[in-house]
Amino acid sequence: MNVLVTGGAGYVGCHAAKLLASEGHEIWVYDNLVFGHRAAVAPGRLIEGDLLDRGKVEAVLREQRIDAVMHFAAFAYVGESVTDPAKYYHNNVVGTLSLMEAMRAVGVSRIVFSSTCATYGEPEQVPIRESQPQRPINPYGFTKLIIEHALADYGQAYGWGYAALRYFNAAGASADGDLGEDHDPETHLIPLVLQVALGQREHVTVFGDKHPTPDGTCIRDYIHVDDLATAHQAALERLERGVELKLNLGTGRGSSVREVIEACRQVTGLPIPAKMAGPRAGDPPALVADASHARRELGWEPRYTEITPIIETAWRWHQSHPHGYDEKTRT
Ligand code: UDP
Repeated sequence: MNVLVTGGAGYVGCHAAKLLASEGHEIWVYDNLVFGHRAAVAPGRLIEGDLLDRGKVEAVLREQRIDAVMHFAAFAYVGESVTDPAKYYHNNVVGTLSLMEAMRAVGVSRIVFSSTCATYGEPEQVPIRESQPQRPINPYGFTKLIIEHALADYGQAYGWGYAALRYFNAAGASADGDLGEDHDPETHLIPLVLQVALGQREHVTVFGDKHPTPDGTCIRDYIHVDDLATAHQAALERLERGVELKLNLGTGRGSSVREVIEACRQVTGLPIPAKMAGPRAGDPPALVADASHARRELGWEPRYTEITPIIETAWRWHQSHPHGYDEKTRT
């Protein structure tokens, strides 16, 4: 298939683009490089552009004879979405609707969409099944949920085949060490802890140790990026007219913040000081996927089911790329 990967220079998108290319798909990455990295994209495969540039998106869809879109491009800082919701609604909602209209104009009707467990808000039950109510507690989650609804309506009315993949916590780096997690600013737990191990930060701050969990710290379901990529590929290959997939992607196992820090100490062999702080606003105590639906629908199994091997891949990346992709040294 000829696949357009929007946001394919970002963390999850670049892993998916690489996998699809290795499986013989013809890949074009469309990215504005606001957060993406040129170095994360295979040479000659990057088209620099903005989602909101409808004419350009349409031209690319047409010229490259795109069969399907994988849509990763989005802003994803939950805290910023609270303080600057306009930025999030504009980019994530208006930008995606513009992409969908470009697809309609050209007759592309298959899309795999990056959704999120943030669409569930504070879950009623853990592990979380897809049938649980989706009640986001921040604008970021709402922007993703709005697009899930739009896709369902486009599916009904125009016969689109789509997958909305609700990720839990993406983590780790590609097994071959080429691709990894490089956000600026970095807010995610595992890279922050590994930056402490590298001596780039003095300590990691633990957001709350009085949550209603066994050790008092928040529990998350960390899913390896390469496993997210294989699920995207499987979903893409399932899409045809009228197919609708709404799937959680996680391992089904939760790790607490304390357990993650301890696993990082073991993997790195370094002490990694941690300081307790109050809880972060809007952080649910536990988010763990029931991913049985994805397993069944996609015939997908995550390769990484334990936190330690996930951290090992991340640590290899951080050691070999202490300043991320470090684009200044690349041409
Ligand atoms: N967390 C933390 N200290 C940090 C960053 C994150 O204790 O410096 C916690 C956060 O409260 C959450 C978990 O680690 O419970 C994972 O956070 P992250 O930001 O990586 O992902 P999120 O679950 O917010 O999408």
